[in-house]
Amino acid sequence: MRDTASIVLKIVSSSPAPVTRFAPSPTGRLHIGHVYSALFSAAAAKGGRFLLRIEDIDRGRCRPEFEAAILEDLGWLGLRWETPVRRQSAHMADYRSALDVLDGDGLLYPCFCTRKDLRAQAAGATLAPHGPDGPLYRGICRALPPSVRAQRIASGSPYALRLDMKAAAARAGNLRFVDRERGEIEVNPTACGDVVLARKDVATSYHLAVTLDDAAQGITLVTRGEDLLHATHIHRILQALLGLPEPEYWHHRLLRDAHGRRYAKRDRDRTIRDLRQSGHSPAAVRELAGFAPA
Ligand code: GLU
Repeated sequence: MRDTASIVLKIVSSSPAPVTRFAPSPTGRLHIGHVYSALFSAAAAKGGRFLLRIEDIDRGRCRPEFEAAILEDLGWLGLRWETPVRRQSAHMADYRSALDVLDGDGLLYPCFCTRKDLRAQAAGATLAPHGPDGPLYRGICRALPPSVRAQRIASGSPYALRLDMKAAAARAGNLRFVDRERGEIEVNPTACGDVVLARKDVATSYHLAVTLDDAAQGITLVTRGEDLLHATHIHRILQALLGLPEPEYWHHRLLRDAHGRRYAKRDRDRTIRDLRQSGHSPAAVRELAGFAPA
């Protein structure tokens, strides 16, 4: 009989070095929480490849000067990544093609609900199931007769595209994903409800773009904050529906301030830019984020 240690050794030595990525949105300056996330991802690549992706689908909120500052700040910190940097806004046609596949499989429906409609539905649904972003969408537009849908589209009513999660889960079957710290996790399709895959104002969404991009960039180990653990359930389902490879995941803890609050854009004195201007060296900033100097 082969002993377990030699089998484990064989698996470890034959598993390719990881490909990881850091994927900031250029909607503001990078803060110390981003430093932690970026250094975590680069460290997890360990002899493998570390990639960068600019998540700029929201053209209204993203600004070129923030993108330039991200590249400059990460370089100043001492991080090196492979080029070219992938920019989501350059791949809208790929997102469209994936939507066409899902639509062809009957898994999408147009949702005409306005923010006001959604607020009203949520207010009347205090006992309804809740997801990470509040009450789950109640499927009002899923139930619209085809003739009403066609008429509303023809009349120019703006709509988002939602995934019919029940149908998607039935098609995808039982799924799991592996998190390096948490082990194997069973996918819970109903936790997030009928998520939006194409917004009214942007012809894709975070979930769709991230899932497709991780596959396109050949990411084998997705690292990100544990605040996005719920999103991985959705991404795993999309991978199965679109025939994409399944990466491993590593959801890391979030860096918090002295009051236990996670860092956010409001923490202006904790941006790399400000720390830099107040005289911190790259090594000092790495240390502030809990990483030993490079
Ligand atoms: N763009 C996302 C953010 O800035 C990260 C998405 C991800 O890592 O999956 O929070």
